[in-house]
Amino acid sequence: MDMNPSSRIYIAGHRGMVGSAILRQLQQEGYTNIITRRSSELDLRNQQAVADFFAAEKPEYVFLAAAKVGGIHANNVYRADFLYENLMIEANVIHQSYVHEVKKLMFLGSSCIYPKMAPQPLKEEYLLTGPLESTNEPYAIAKIAGIKLCESYRLQYGCNFISVMPTNLYGPNDNYDLNNSHVLPALIRKFHEAKEEGKPYVEVWGSGSPKREFLHADDLAEACIYLMHNYNELELVNIGTGEDLSIKELAETIRDIVGFEGELRWDSSKPDGTPRKLMDVSKLHSHGWKHKIGLREGITRVYQEVKERGFEKAP
Ligand code: GDP
Repeated sequence: MDMNPSSRIYIAGHRGMVGSAILRQLQQEGYTNIITRRSSELDLRNQQAVADFFAAEKPEYVFLAAAKVGGIHANNVYRADFLYENLMIEANVIHQSYVHEVKKLMFLGSSCIYPKMAPQPLKEEYLLTGPLESTNEPYAIAKIAGIKLCESYRLQYGCNFISVMPTNLYGPNDNYDLNNSHVLPALIRKFHEAKEEGKPYVEVWGSGSPKREFLHADDLAEACIYLMHNYNELELVNIGTGEDLSIKELAETIRDIVGFEGELRWDSSKPDGTPRKLMDVSKLHSHGWKHKIGLREGITRVYQEVKERGFEKAP
């Protein structure tokens, strides 16, 4: 039987932006048998702990949204941690899902798995056709390993393990720590604080010319649940909007929404990263799903949320 409201569903990473969005969406749809563990209760890097957890809980469906993630600076600096921790999490959860005969697993990757100079928009088939962007190569290698684990358990053991590649995401429970965060939450915080403090300018990293695509986490969660019901193939599927904008345009949009009236200053000592990573979403659209939340509306929503809750992570 397909995943239904009484299925035993494990969301790995339910406190993160992606996992928490999947959890909210499943709860809204009336799912009652959701299994979660905080990282303090279950260390997914620990093989024995993950084996014991799967043996005890026997989930039928798994969303693998747990990962060590961060923006361009964190990826570039904590290279060993990004590679090691993500490999361990993926290997443990995917292997135990095989051992305990999970009916279906969804692995969440990232658009940074594609080669730095791949043609745009990024089609799923461009995976492993060229060198990666160096700032996030360790993270990308770990995510590619996760994709290959899903493919390999399907090919060798017949497991229904699928992989989806979300574009850059934003939403509730995002990380607003300026050293480790992605550009969109970082700029919301910088513009908001500059406005509050009456600062005349905000520093934006790089040249402003790289282009990025952004999807709201609630849209992503909806797409993931949709694909959990409707997609059973070996190949990965991109999840995005199919629309992008430059970092400069993004900064101006956020400045506008926050209502900051000062100027933008470009800090060219910081890296630009990949020039562009726009997802080709034709496969996703052909399977019948399209995003709903536009960028301006989505940023307005998250800005409202952080104004109410503050920029610090919930304990
Ligand atoms: P990426 O998509 O993996 O490159 O990661 P980010 O979201 O961290 O950065 C995207 C782009 O935004 C890069 O070109 C950054 O240099 C640029 N950027 C501009 N200002 C900021 C900032 O305050 N924080 C971050 N993380 N990126 C910024």
